[in-house]
Amino acid sequence: MITREQIHELAQFEDEGACALSFYFQPPAPRNKAHKEEAILTKDLAREALRQLESRSSQAKSKNKSKDKCESARADLDRIVRLSQELRGNGAHAKAVFACSAQGFWREYDLPAHLSGTQLLVDRRFHLKPLAQLLGSFPSLGIVLVDRHRARLFDLRLGELTEREGFFHPLTRRGRGDGFAGYDGGHAERRVADEARQHFKFVADFLKDALDKGMFEHWILGCQDTHWPPFAGQLHPYASQKLLGRFTAEVAHMSRDEIRSQAERIFAASQERRCGEAVRETLSQARSGARGVTGLRRVLRSLESGEVQTLLVGQSYHSQAVECAGCGHLDAHLVSFCPVCGRETREVVDVAEAILPRVIRHDIELFYVKDDAEFDKVGNIAALLRFRSEQNNNSSSNVRPITQAPPNPSRSRRDGLVGRYRGLASG
Ligand SMILES: [Zn+2]
Repeated sequence: MITREQIHELAQFEDEGACALSFYFQPPAPRNKAHKEEAILTKDLAREALRQLESRSSQAKSKNKSKDKCESARADLDRIVRLSQELRGNGAHAKAVFACSAQGFWREYDLPAHLSGTQLLVDRRFHLKPLAQLLGSFPSLGIVLVDRHRARLFDLRLGELTEREGFFHPLTRRGRGDGFAGYDGGHAERRVADEARQHFKFVADFLKDALDKGMFEHWILGCQDTHWPPFAGQLHPYASQKLLGRFTAEVAHMSRDEIRSQAERIFAASQERRCGEAVRETLSQARSGARGVTGLRRVLRSLESGEVQTLLVGQSYHSQAVECAGCGHLDAHLVSFCPVCGRETREVVDVAEAILPRVIRHDIELFYVKDDAEFDKVGNIAALLRFRSEQNNNSSSNVRPITQAPPNPSRSRRDGLVGRYRGLASG
C-alpha cells in the first residue's frame, strides 16, 4: 500500500543528472501466458532508456560526471530488468518502481493491475501520471453493510477490499416477536425498535468518528431499502454529505466480489458526475471572470499564486513549457531566461506531467477530463480557484515561484492515507 507520505516523497524527488527512473509494470492478463513477452518488453524499454541517457550525456559539458550518472542509471536498469523476470506469475498486481542509485533511492510498490501498460522513463523527476490516474480510480472508500442488528465495515483502497470491523448487536429473544398480542406484545415491539435505533446510532457514531480520523474520505452503504430511512435518521450531517451512494445488500450473504463491484460502480458514477460538475462550474466561473481560469498560461499563474482548488486536465493533453532551473517557475512562453529570477530556463516536454509534483504537494484536487467538446474549446486545461488574487488581473510580472505558494488550506492534513488523493481522477 502506498501512503500519502510516500507519494509526497516521490513528488519532491529531483535528480539534477536526470537519472530518476520510473518503471510501471502492468502484468499480462492471466489467460494470456505472455509473461515472457513482458520481460522482453522491459528489456527493450531499458535498452532504449540507456541509449537516450548515453546520447544526452555525450552532449553534456562535464563528461566524467555524466559518465558516472550513466553508470548508476545502468545499474538501476539492470536491476529492473531482473525484477521484471521475477514478476512471473504475479498476475494479480501491477508494480511501480522509482529509483535513482546516484542518490541511493529505490522504492517498490504493488498497485492494482489497472495500468495502461508497462512503461519505463528516465528523467529529472519521477513520472507520476499513471499513479495519479490510478489513485483517482481507486480512492480510499469505506463500505458499510448494515441491517437492524448487524453491521460490517470494509475498506476499499487501491482495489483491495479489507474487512475492518464487524458489529453484531443481538436482539433480545422476546424482541424477535413471538406474536402474542396485548400490552406485552406491544411493549416487546417497542423494545425491538428501540434496540434497532440504538444499533443504528452506534454504527452512525462509529462512521462519523472514522471519517473524522481520516480512515476514509467517502463511503458507500449497502442495506435493505426498509432499513435506509431509520439508519439515515441517525447519520451525522457530515457523514451524509460524504455518502456517495447506496446499494441493496444482505449483510450476511454478500460476496466480497459483489461488494467490491457495487462500490466501484457507485464510485465511478459519482466521480463522473463530480468531474462534469467541476468542468461546468469552472467554465462558468471563468466566463464571468470570477473563480475560474482556462488555458495553460493562466492556469500556471494561478498554480504559482496558490489559488487553485481543482485542476482539470484533458486526458491526452500535451503541451510544452519551460521551467526555471533556479526557482522552479514554469512558463508557457518558451523564454530562455526566467521572468521571476532571471536564471536560465530549460524545456519541459510535457507540462501536464511537470505540474503533478506541485499538485500533489499542495493537495489540489485533479480530474482528467475525457471527451468534452466545451472543455476542448478552452484549450483542455482549466482550474477552479479558491479565491482570485489581485495579481491574476495584473501583468505576469508579479508571479511568484510555486515553491513559495501557500499550501491549500481548504484541505486539512490528516494521517498518511492514500484516500487524500481521491481527487486525482480519471474522470
Ligand atoms: Zn527562476
